[in-house]
Amino acid sequence: MVLADLGRKLNAALSSLNRAPVVDEKVLDALLKEVCAALLESDVNVKLVAQLRQKVKTKVKAIFESSGDKTKEANRKNVIQKAIYDELVSLVDPGVEPYKPKKGHPNVIMAVGLQGNGKTTTCTKLAVHYQKRGFKSCIVCADTFRAGAFDQTRQSATKAKVAYFGSYTETDPVAIAAQGVSKFKKEKFDVIIVDTSGRHKQESELFQEMVQIGEAVQPDMTVLILDASIGQAAEAQSRAFKESANFGAIIVTKMDGHARGGGAISAVAATQTPIIFLGTGEHLTDLDRFSPQPFISKLLGLGDVQGLMEHMQDLATQNPDRQKEMAKKLEEGKLSIRDWREQIQNVMNLYVTSPKPLDALPKPNCILSGPISKIASMIPGLPQDLLQGSDEEGASRMKRMIYITDSMTSTELDSDGSLFMEFAKDGKPTALTWRVTRVARGSGTSVREVEELLCQYRMMANMAKQAGGKNGWLQTMQKMQ
Ligand code: GDP
Repeated sequence: MVLADLGRKLNAALSSLNRAPVVDEKVLDALLKEVCAALLESDVNVKLVAQLRQKVKTKVKAIFESSGDKTKEANRKNVIQKAIYDELVSLVDPGVEPYKPKKGHPNVIMAVGLQGNGKTTTCTKLAVHYQKRGFKSCIVCADTFRAGAFDQTRQSATKAKVAYFGSYTETDPVAIAAQGVSKFKKEKFDVIIVDTSGRHKQESELFQEMVQIGEAVQPDMTVLILDASIGQAAEAQSRAFKESANFGAIIVTKMDGHARGGGAISAVAATQTPIIFLGTGEHLTDLDRFSPQPFISKLLGLGDVQGLMEHMQDLATQNPDRQKEMAKKLEEGKLSIRDWREQIQNVMNLYVTSPKPLDALPKPNCILSGPISKIASMIPGLPQDLLQGSDEEGASRMKRMIYITDSMTSTELDSDGSLFMEFAKDGKPTALTWRVTRVARGSGTSVREVEELLCQYRMMANMAKQAGGKNGWLQTMQKMQ
């Protein structure tokens, strides 16, 4: 994800603050200069960046003045970091709650947007997203302008195993939309997604058609699909659409390919319309739910436990018994290397382009698309370099991790990793045991890679233990079931 670049720059700026022995105005100015340069490079509007700089300065100064010179340097750093975090969140927060589809109600979602922005692809991604969460979902193709639009819907909906409706003969998009929605309402579908045309001979005709379809199907939510590559021009485009089709939410697509994504997101927030998802690739599962706080946490490398839990929820619907068992282990802090491997593999399986699970595939064919940076950025504490490079590189690093565990014995897999360490009397690890060398040799990897894997496992296990406590992961998962 190109946004990872922005994240790295912001991270680098915040780490330079951590290294500063004294925190004064000069340090704050230098930090803000770096943060603002990173935002501008990502095409965030100059005015918004200037506002962020001013707000952080005012906030920090006020806190410093009220607490006097007694504030410790570490506290001062925290105040600055918190102020920057809060202002970054408000930069992408429109302050408006989007519509949430309800169970037991035919939720009609109408997608609008210019041709090529990724509307048809996103409609199928949306249907898959809701279907996975137990909503019976379908798509109505009301684009009669573009030749081949219905074929595209038919193909992607069939691939996604989602019901669809359209016509090769009917030329009136309003009639098709009305027929499709009424048919699916009768068939008790929960989420009915209406894909509309994205181009016309005249722009005014396009907007007129959107209004007519809207009147015919009475959507619960109209979603504007925007391409991230237009950067801050997203504001003008969304305002133009808003004048005709009063949409209630936005999905920004192609966030995987464009450095200007940060600009698009902040520009959209400025129009007080919530972004609900980000499109992050061409595959059906490349759709990330968007909400301001987790987005900024992830960007700054602080992890996204909420996102991770959502993925766990997806898995819970597929294999509830095993997930309950896992949740119990989490609560008791008994997550073994085998369990951890299973969790990572499960999450990876969600993104495997082939319908077969990872284990069922011969290893060279385990083609993973885009999952590594996604998963890694959700897990607090995972090293940033796991996110670096292309997805293929990330996938290959992750696959090597799985190969390493393949070379462990059953006893090692069922352990908490302590078998791989020698410990001093005070319980501190002092050296690696012969087992590490054996596993490295057996898996064709290096001792360093095995060591890194063990380190990541310990971080994951610690996080799981914390999340399993009161109001933690376990409780959340139980509430979800
Ligand atoms: P529409 O004309 O708005 O319906 O756009 P399409 O759904 O046909 O998409 C146009 C192109 O954008 C296709 O090649 C899609 O595969 C691609 N696309 C859509 N969403 C994304 C995304 O999030 N990331 C990437 N990289 N490509 C996307």
